[in-house]
Amino acid sequence: MKDKTRDQYAVMGNPVSHSKSPFIHSEFARQTGQQLDYTAICVEPGHLSEAVSQFYHNHGKGLNITVPFKQDAWQLASQRSERAQRAGAVNTLVLLSETAIYGDTTDGIGLVTDLTQNHGIQIQPQKILILGAGGAVRGVLEPLLQGQLQQLVIANRTVAKATELADDFAELGAVSGCGFPDLNGEKFDLVINGTSASLAGELPPLPENLLTADACVYDMMYGAKPTVFMRWGMHQGAARCLDGLGMLVEQAAESFEIWRGVRPRTEEVIRALRASMK
Ligand code: NDP
Repeated sequence: MKDKTRDQYAVMGNPVSHSKSPFIHSEFARQTGQQLDYTAICVEPGHLSEAVSQFYHNHGKGLNITVPFKQDAWQLASQRSERAQRAGAVNTLVLLSETAIYGDTTDGIGLVTDLTQNHGIQIQPQKILILGAGGAVRGVLEPLLQGQLQQLVIANRTVAKATELADDFAELGAVSGCGFPDLNGEKFDLVINGTSASLAGELPPLPENLLTADACVYDMMYGAKPTVFMRWGMHQGAARCLDGLGMLVEQAAESFEIWRGVRPRTEEVIRALRASMK
C-alpha cells in the first residue's frame, strides 16, 4: 500500500495509463535507495492547474508532464530553466510551494544522451534532418544545435510551423524549416522522426535517396517491434535504425536528478524495459 507520508511524484497526461514512467522511476528509486512513490495521473483537459495544486497538498514534490499538457505546464511554472524558457514547453515540474513551481525540459538532453552515450553517435559536422515541429521537436533543438553539426533541417507537414520553429532557434546555429517535398535531392547523415505519425502506423511522405551511405535513423517513438519509420530506414539502407526507448529513460533520469539530486544508472533500466515489452 502507498505510504502517503513519503514524497510523492507522478506523471500527468491524458491518456497516461500506458506510461512507462512509474516503472522507470520506481526502478531509479530502488536502485538509489530513495524513499518515494511515483504514479500516473490522468488529468482532464483544462484542469492541470487544480490537479497540480491538489497533488502538492498530498505530499507532491515533483511531476512529469506529458501530452497534451507540456505547454500548459510551461504557463503554470513560476520559474523556468533557460532551456525550458526557449522551448516553450516543460516536462518536469518541481513543486517548491503551492504557487512556486519550477519548470524544466529534459526531452532534449534525453535524446542527446541516448544518441551520444548509449549509441556512440557523435553530433559532429553533419547534416541532420528532424521530422515534425511539435512539442517534442521544440524540446530537442537546443541541445542538438549545441553539437558541432553542419546543418539542421526541420521538415513538417504544416510548413509554417517548421519555418517558425527554425526562426525561433536561428541564433543558436544553422537551422532551417521546410515541407516534405522540399527534401527532394537532399541527403542527411542522421534523420530523427519527431512526428506522431508512427503512433498511427503512418510514415511522413519522404523522398527516396534521403540518406548518406552510413546514415542513422532514429524514431522518438518506441515499441516492441521496429516502428514503421525504422522499417523505412532499413529499406532505405540506413546503417543503424534506433527507437526512442533510451531517450525515454534518459529524460526520466534527468528529471530524477533534478528532484532528488542523485543520478540513477540507466543502462539496466533500459534493458529491463526492453525485456518487459517483448
Ligand atoms: P505533437 O502533437 O506536439 O506534434 C506532432 C507532430 O507530428 C506535428 O509536427 C505534426 O505535424 C506531426 N504529424 C502528426 N501526424 C502526422 C502524419 N500522419 N504525417 C506527418 N506528420 C504528422 O507531438 P509531440 O511532439 O509531443 O510528440 C511527437 C512524438 O514524439 C510522439 O510519437 C511521442 O510519442 C514522441 N516522444 C517521445 C519521447 C521519448 O522520450 N521517447 C518524448 C517526447 C515525445 P503538423 O504540425 O502538421 O500537425
